[in-house]
Amino acid sequence: MINSQRKPFVAGNWKMNGSNELVESFCSNLASSPAVDVVICPPAVYLSKFSHAEFAVGAQNASEFAAGAHTGEISLSMIAEAGCKYVILGHSERREGHNESNEVVARKVKATIAAGLTPILCIGEPLEVRESGGVFDFVKAQLDAIANECGVNYIKNSVVAYEPIWAIGTGKTASPEQAQEVHAFIRKELAALDASAAANVRILYGGSVNAANASELFAKTDIDGGLIGGASLKIEDFTTICQAAS
Ligand code: PEP
Repeated sequence: MINSQRKPFVAGNWKMNGSNELVESFCSNLASSPAVDVVICPPAVYLSKFSHAEFAVGAQNASEFAAGAHTGEISLSMIAEAGCKYVILGHSERREGHNESNEVVARKVKATIAAGLTPILCIGEPLEVRESGGVFDFVKAQLDAIANECGVNYIKNSVVAYEPIWAIGTGKTASPEQAQEVHAFIRKELAALDASAAANVRILYGGSVNAANASELFAKTDIDGGLIGGASLKIEDFTTICQAAS
């Protein structure tokens, strides 16, 4: 069951999907609830169009640099000016498709916290790592890189998302037991650095969560909500998932 000291959290990652029409439909129809933190992370061009939404907005990426000659990049101060509170960092599609190493992600986490925004830090293993039994070592290395760059304070200022890569966009969800096992490991690793921050940090599960499987996943002790890709584009499904978290 979701721990009473941690407010459930559901974030929708629209990836490179969406339109003015979809933005308007979410702004008009996605209700907020005091029982769950709801965040939509659309492509950057739509961020400032959510100013009248009842829910929070997050970016899908940010530059580690403050300004200057970085064509195509978007700075954290711009993201803040667009009304965001959150930034997804370290998504596997950025790690794999845009060569973001653990160190790059760590610098982005540091810059995001310094800008007063909250990282939604994505970690998780590829299929071959799961099959060879290396999940814990892989996830630990991802967490250690953040602690090395940011110190332990990042735990208080972040939301963590465990997203096994083999489950993202594939329809192959981790079983609630598989997910809980890794979430408990993540919390234990964080507790070794700061026990009280680890007890309070929200750890989301991401990977083919949908309206039918969300309740079972969110019922696990260390799963505090979800990072939702495909199902966050359908308002009825996303609403059901938010209700499952609350
Ligand atoms: C994601 O992109 O973070 C994600 C979890 O995608 P999906 O829900 O489509 O698997």
